[in-house]
Amino acid sequence: KSGFATLIGRPNVGKSTLMNKLIGQKIAITSNKPQTTRNRIQTVYTCDEGQIVFLDTPGIHKAKNKLGEYMVNVAERTLKEVDVVLWLVEPTTFVGAGERHIAEQLAKVKTPVILVINKTDTVKKEELLAVIDTYRKLHDFHEIVPVSALNGDNTETLIEQIFKYL
Ligand code: GDP
Ligand code: MG
Repeated sequence: KSGFATLIGRPNVGKSTLMNKLIGQKIAITSNKPQTTRNRIQTVYTCDEGQIVFLDTPGIHKAKNKLGEYMVNVAERTLKEVDVVLWLVEPTTFVGAGERHIAEQLAKVKTPVILVINKTDTVKKEELLAVIDTYRKLHDFHEIVPVSALNGDNTETLIEQIFKYL
């Protein structure tokens, strides 16, 4: 199996840490070379089951100028073209304008979305359940996977869930 995934989420949620953790566990190649005019390959994750090509998506935000408009268009196209979107969030029930805007963009595409709740090492189970409840109201997620990118908790499950959509 092989296919394309993209990792989105606001700064500091742990996107880089998660990528590094996945790379650390399995053979992977990282590249910053432009692959197409639209997308950049961040990482190729390889294991016995196949390959997951992670594509970089420029920040999903409201356009404030021409460059912003271009970035938003690139982001929208990437969301449409990948096999699965991973939306990484903090384990908090606080949902701001940024989260609502991402949910609006995701509602426009048919691509399956996996909600990845990161930093589970920092919260209790009840808090995690509250976070899941909060995000369920924002989007109809195909999967919800809590992980800790820091210590690798549940990242194997995340990989299995991604392969389901490739
Ligand atoms: P990015 O901006 O989304 O790429 O976020 P980073 O990967 O740079 O992580 C931002 C901060 O969160 C760093 O200080 C990380 O060490 C921390 N962090 C990332 N993942 C975890 C996690 O699973 N648990 C904890 N406790 N901290 C994390
Ligand atoms: Mg980063």
